[in-house]
Amino acid sequence: MLNVLAILLVAAALVILLAALPPTRRLIAELPAGPMRSQWRFMAGLVLVFVAGYAGYLAVFWDRHQSIADLLVPAVFVCGACFVWLAARLSLATVVNVRRMSTLDRANVTDALSGLDSRHYLDRRMREEMMRAERHGLAVSVMLLDIDNFASVNATYGHAVGDQVLTEIGRILSGGVRESDVLVRYGGEEIAIVATHTPPAAAMAVAERLRREVEVGARKALREAQGARRAITVSIGVAGREAGGKADADLFETAERALRRAKSEGRNRVVLG
Ligand code: GH3
Ligand code: MG
Ligand code: MG
Repeated sequence: MLNVLAILLVAAALVILLAALPPTRRLIAELPAGPMRSQWRFMAGLVLVFVAGYAGYLAVFWDRHQSIADLLVPAVFVCGACFVWLAARLSLATVVNVRRMSTLDRANVTDALSGLDSRHYLDRRMREEMMRAERHGLAVSVMLLDIDNFASVNATYGHAVGDQVLTEIGRILSGGVRESDVLVRYGGEEIAIVATHTPPAAAMAVAERLRREVEVGARKALREAQGARRAITVSIGVAGREAGGKADADLFETAERALRRAKSEGRNRVVLG
């Protein structure tokens, strides 16, 4: 009777150990190539060694369990197998959850309409970039763009067309800045660009080029979508600091003031704050 119980325990331990293999295999598939994946491969190998060990034990001690004390080893086998199974399951769940969280984080960062990064992302990146520029005495500039008379685009063609115009402008701007620049939807129809390693004079040249590209590209997009001939322009306020220069208390505030001046001076222009 004791012998049957011992054999059942070892058989259960074997089944639990084998059940740890599928989650381990999935976990290995989820991990990027690297030391972590190699170590989990090693773990999977160890599980197979345990399986062989348990089976060997069964073969050798098939009919040798006579007292309660003889149940100790089979019981430890079951506990060990449960531990391995739980570790594999939990590790897999952790990897899947962390991946889901980072995807959500990304979605949080991207503005749904324009595909640009959101204000939340700007605040974080801007703080990082300013600290880096400060520490290493690097140049950095901010450009704030606002679409001119956008309310009247909405009023004339409807909000959906306004959305298309906004998306098109986002696309033009994304194609016109460097990969390392931070381009975000700053407000409703305002877009901010943080240009790293860029002194104010260079940022002015970039802003002027972007202003022209929007003037040409957005008008063309509206004509193709609506058959409408109408200027779509942006005003841009620029603020920045030179390499090694003193930090502006708030580059965004300066850029906002410059943007207001660009509006009051007639729109469709770039002004340095
Ligand atoms: P200004 O040249 O002074 O900037 O004039 P404006 O009409 O662009 O400025 P105002 O601030 O009066 O209006 C901004 C408009 O932008 C009003 C708002 O409905 C529109 N807007 C903001 N966000 C969106 C959006 O996501 N989609 C659309 N279609 N319109 C938007
Ligand atoms: Mg505005
Ligand atoms: Mg506007």
